[in-house]
Amino acid sequence: MLDLAIIGGGPAGLTAGLYATRGGLKEVVMFEKGMPGGQITSSSEIENYPGITEVMTGMDLMEKWPEQAMRFGMNHRMDEVDRVSKDENGIFKILLLGGEVVDARSVIVYTGSTPRRSGVKGESLFFGRGVSTCATCDGFFYKNQEVAVLGGGDTALEEALYLANICSKVYLIHRRDEFRASPITVEKIKKNQKIELVLNSVVDEIVGDDSGVNGVYVSDKHGNKRDLRVSGIFIFVGMNVNNAILVQEDGKPICDLNENGNVIVNLKMHTSVKGLFAAGDLRIDASKQVVCAAGDGATAGIQALEYVND
Ligand code: FAD
Ligand code: NAP
Repeated sequence: MLDLAIIGGGPAGLTAGLYATRGGLKEVVMFEKGMPGGQITSSSEIENYPGITEVMTGMDLMEKWPEQAMRFGMNHRMDEVDRVSKDENGIFKILLLGGEVVDARSVIVYTGSTPRRSGVKGESLFFGRGVSTCATCDGFFYKNQEVAVLGGGDTALEEALYLANICSKVYLIHRRDEFRASPITVEKIKKNQKIELVLNSVVDEIVGDDSGVNGVYVSDKHGNKRDLRVSGIFIFVGMNVNNAILVQEDGKPICDLNENGNVIVNLKMHTSVKGLFAAGDLRIDASKQVVCAAGDGATAGIQALEYVND
């Protein structure tokens, strides 16, 4: 039986593994369905992780984190978790996608969030053929071409800046005339000659042919329509909370969630179920920053250690 099962290998999960094993827990496994590192690995640049003064890609920032956590004994399994439940003896059951069940004394869930779909006509049809949610991954395919970006948050604006370095022009389409992104990023956007702001506007349809996207139809709040001839559109309209593994066979969550599906925790990352912790972007009131996810991970790792030792 595991002392601790960590579900999710982003900044929060990797930090929890480091603290729990360094603090003495022996049987600690981190279940991560992909490569460890989490969503920041899709970011083209990060410049606000304390102590790191150079601007680097999310991939570079996360490169050493798994190695450090594993040095103290954390094990990594590349497996997707289907469900977490707790039996009548207080033992957690980690059901993996293939059907295997792993027992654990304590569990920390750090499954983070994933990019939300906008629901625009043509988005699903052309997804992966001109519609993308990752500029770092796909931006290079549009070198010297015109592209559009949809959204007005930090992700949309930062990725629009990244794309402006590669593409000939970037249309930044946002449904309001004020941005949710931080003021410093908005300033950079406004100064960038390659970025055209298309504000108070929505995308009516993404259009294309067999070879992929070749345009987006946009209309503003006055009903004026535009046909933007772009070969790609990058959609950054927020994130969905990855809480599906908490849902039990009866359809109810194992622990308390808020109305948005975020896990309700206290300052020690305890959920409403003893021995089950949640942290990072998944929890209520998350600041959604790498440094905060790492801080949460340390707190939950220490709490899991105390819980198992007790
Ligand atoms: P995540 O990083 O989301 O990690 C969750 C992990 O869980 C993933 O690796 C996922 O594969 C795994 N997982 C999910 N479900 C399962 C399952 N069922 N079984 C197994 N594994 C599972 N923050 C900053 O501080 N500075 C920035 O500049 C910045 N830029 C960003 C740019 C972009 C494009 C994005 C998307 C985010 C950015 N953020 C930034 C936010 C930051 O990435 C997140 O706040 C942080 O990664 C959250 O960490 P986490 O560990 O909670 O979750
Ligand atoms: P976000 O802050 O939720 O912004 C989503 C944007 O998409 C908003 O501007 C929203 O418009 C727009 N939108 C939502 N649904 C839409 C739809 N269906 N059609 C068109 N537009 C739609 O999401 P995010 O930018 O992905 O950021 C997520 C979190 O990560 C945030 O907390 C953010 O601060 C953080 N983050 C931080 C950094 C950084 O620190 N450098 C970088 C990236 C992300 P409205 O504004 O009108 O609601």
